[in-house]
Amino acid sequence: MPLKLATTENPGSNWDLRKTLDVLASNPGQFYETSHPVDPNAELAGVYRHIGAGGTVARPTRLGPAMMFSNVKGYEQAPASKVLVGVMASRKRVGLLLDSPANKLTQCMSDAIDNALPPVLVPQAQAPCQEQVFLASDPDFDLRKLLPAPTNTPEDAGPFLCLGLVLGSDPEDSEKTDVTIHRLCVQGKDELSIFFAPGRHIDAFRQQAEAQGKPLPITVNMGLDPAIYIGACFEAPTTPFGYDELHIAGGLRGEGVQLTKAVSINQHAIARAEIVIEGEILPNVRVREDQNTDSGHAMPEFPGYCGPANPSLPVIKVTAVTMRQGAILQTLVGPGEEHTNLAGIPTEASIFNAAEKALPGFVKNVYAHTSGGGKFLAVLQVQKRKALDDAMVNQAAMIALGVYRELKNVIVVDEDVDLFDTDDVLWAMQTRYQGNMDTTFVANVAGHVLDPSQQPEYNPAISSRGVSCKTVFDCTVPFRLKAHFTRASFMDVDPRPFAPELFDANGNRL
Ligand code: MN
Repeated sequence: MPLKLATTENPGSNWDLRKTLDVLASNPGQFYETSHPVDPNAELAGVYRHIGAGGTVARPTRLGPAMMFSNVKGYEQAPASKVLVGVMASRKRVGLLLDSPANKLTQCMSDAIDNALPPVLVPQAQAPCQEQVFLASDPDFDLRKLLPAPTNTPEDAGPFLCLGLVLGSDPEDSEKTDVTIHRLCVQGKDELSIFFAPGRHIDAFRQQAEAQGKPLPITVNMGLDPAIYIGACFEAPTTPFGYDELHIAGGLRGEGVQLTKAVSINQHAIARAEIVIEGEILPNVRVREDQNTDSGHAMPEFPGYCGPANPSLPVIKVTAVTMRQGAILQTLVGPGEEHTNLAGIPTEASIFNAAEKALPGFVKNVYAHTSGGGKFLAVLQVQKRKALDDAMVNQAAMIALGVYRELKNVIVVDEDVDLFDTDDVLWAMQTRYQGNMDTTFVANVAGHVLDPSQQPEYNPAISSRGVSCKTVFDCTVPFRLKAHFTRASFMDVDPRPFAPELFDANGNRL
């Protein structure tokens, strides 16, 4: 369907990064701004590691507030002079921003798929993202001077844009659009390299265009409503080829995402973005990711390792950069809790939806655990109601593996285990699991190329990179023995009168 123009009845959503920051500022402990000068080159990520990165980042790290660096060395006078990191680096914060309790985000996302709404088109004059326009045809144009793209570590291939939402369309059918976050390395004054994991939909558009010898026009949208970023991270089969994931952000907000026409190419941009890079993915052009640094490494990837620089990546030729006044460059620390939430919450919803359709009422909740970056490990909480449900544990796990190919390990726990509490999940493993009877291996299944153990060098039985053994850990009690596994039950009391200052207004322990 062609994009509809925004109207008074259907104006589109006014959510954006500025509104997000207002919400964070009104919630204690969720936002921290520093004016201490910071080098975007490795220092910024090194600082945030200690403040709030979490996830698979090398220890010490922890969860904490989102952080704004308002004094970035070398960029004091740049059109985009501030860097913001960690907006989605806590599940609690994502819950605040999507107006959902953190432990119900899975269901909130799954409802958004059912209530998906299309984007709307607003005139360029009403698009804040075009308040400032810099055309690459200007001889003084230099992307590297406009915005402070950071590196995560001293050995990164170059400066990376880590939260660039790439919007591209089918070259045969421009109404078929996809949005996906891809890793983008700044390669020159008007060039970026773009990395596609196998099977990504925009890469399919790119290959179609390349087969015809044509460039693929795309926009890179940065500094967005978190609903857009998280909604964009659904993958097939939940969002099959040709499905525009912006519809899910529409479902989350109850109003469509506002798009506008790009200034230099035939494509759309997210109207309320902080920064938009417009450009074309060139046909038959490839660069080495670390061509400027010879570092050998790309950047720290979600599994927690600094992956190798890619020898041959497609190139985006930048045609323009547009920005808001006072634009904020939003980024994340490669591995870390922010990746877990971006990748994991949509994964949870995909698994929950499919399990609920196949086995109604059996799977109560799903957590895409942070140790796997929201991709490798899922914890399923189930409720057995009859003896046959013992076999439904593996059935549910197979459904999870079926809807999400990058999933590697599944831990299944009962309804009395808090699936978000790793200590509790491991307790279930210690007292409700016998390795030789409760483990199921499914070998030689497609997985994820960025896991260093999914390689023939690790196990010669692995046929190629990105092939894995999938494992199910059944940590549930056999139905017939349920009565023998009742947890010691404590008296139900209200502890607040005894220590009021240790609890928040909702009675949660601070
Ligand atoms: Mn897609």
